[in-house]
Amino acid sequence: MSVSTAFAPAPAPAAATGAVPAPLPVLGRDVTVPLVTGGEVGYAALDYAASAPALQRVWDDIAAYAPYYGSVHRGAGHLSQLSTELFENARRTVADFLDCRDDDQVIFTRSTTDSLNLLARALPAGCEVFVFETEHHAALLPWRAADVTFLDAPRSPAAAVRTLQRALAARDTARPALVCVTGASNVTGELWPVRELAAAARASGARTVLDAAQLVPHQAVSVRELDVDWVAFSGHKLYAPFGSGVLAGRADWLGAAEPYLAGGGASRTVARGADGGVEVEWQDGAARHEAGSPNVIGAHALASACRALTEAGPEALAVRERHLLGLLRAGLAEVPEVRVLTLFGEDAPRVGVLSFVVDGWNSSHLAAALSAEYGIGVRDGLFCAHPLVHALLGTDPAGRAGCGTGSLNAVRVSFGAGTPDEDVLRFVTAVRELVTRGAKWTYRTENGRCVPES
Ligand code: PLP
Repeated sequence: MSVSTAFAPAPAPAAATGAVPAPLPVLGRDVTVPLVTGGEVGYAALDYAASAPALQRVWDDIAAYAPYYGSVHRGAGHLSQLSTELFENARRTVADFLDCRDDDQVIFTRSTTDSLNLLARALPAGCEVFVFETEHHAALLPWRAADVTFLDAPRSPAAAVRTLQRALAARDTARPALVCVTGASNVTGELWPVRELAAAARASGARTVLDAAQLVPHQAVSVRELDVDWVAFSGHKLYAPFGSGVLAGRADWLGAAEPYLAGGGASRTVARGADGGVEVEWQDGAARHEAGSPNVIGAHALASACRALTEAGPEALAVRERHLLGLLRAGLAEVPEVRVLTLFGEDAPRVGVLSFVVDGWNSSHLAAALSAEYGIGVRDGLFCAHPLVHALLGTDPAGRAGCGTGSLNAVRVSFGAGTPDEDVLRFVTAVRELVTRGAKWTYRTENGRCVPES
């Protein structure tokens, strides 16, 4: 009995409505939340870009495996062996999902942030790093100990490539270099020209890491086709919120680096040295950077999500997402006060992530009212991409605003494979009502957040 098939129940069939596939079953669809105006309403989860709900399939896979859970790699018992096989199978599933090269390695981490920090610690001596200022902080900040060049926000995909080419042309090609690019912006949802940026990097002898946190939940990613050196993403944005992330790609820099964490699992042999200290021989491969007991459930959940999305079909998921984007754009277009934030232009291809501001509204106020009066969960703020959002809003980074004042941040709405039409339609109706009629409740600022008056 193979472990991967033993713990993988058949996926629930998705009923199609016309040409648009049905949403995939996710947990939480039957959760109701209280309204400040009285009563309860079904929760509309429209903050997938922060964390997506677990796929029902992922939950079922975990439940099927949980009784068989055991420590991995070092246990002699049957369940330890089963769990080890499951954990290593999860690695292969992720490698297949990303269409990795044969000699790539998959390292399980906690998240995208963890993956990028791991790579930052493994940069070879003298490495230069190039990163756009538009990145999420997880991709912007880990390189600060290196010789990093922050590239100005480009206003089109072609400008992004030209900006990178110009910066790379000035670099010392005797030194190693890394370019960090994002697949899809967590603020605008816009797709970045990953293949072209990776080609520009390659032409200059630099390597590329792809921050795919917002890309893998929406599109198939092929490491081979994109020709990137590493990919980082998080399980909790991929319908597997169980604490696992991935850094997949080239083994050489990571194999030459000190382990990310020192401890059991990363060490092959440890002995007292002649000088009274401790001598250690580190492991090669993924184990070198996975010290401590790994998150088997998290890895299993992440692999389960990879299988579920592959079986659902990236094209079918894209059809559904385009349909939802169409509903959202059409609904917001009816509210002239809404300004959608965009770097590459309103019609630029994007995933199901969209940020906007509303004339005369503070974004925190709007988001608070959407939650309190309509049971709709979106996000407001700067989305851990402060330089980008300030550039898009034309705001002063030091500015502060209360509930009643103009917008110094934005509202983000995001969705994915589990989102029904109804949630998006409720959202656009709620925005329209709030903007035309105003909030029904009063709100105040508490600890920097807008909250309903009690
Ligand atoms: N990169 C992007 C584009 C993101 O949107 C996020 C999270 O929102 C991250 C990186 C960091 O992901 P995590 O918080 O899972 O480490």
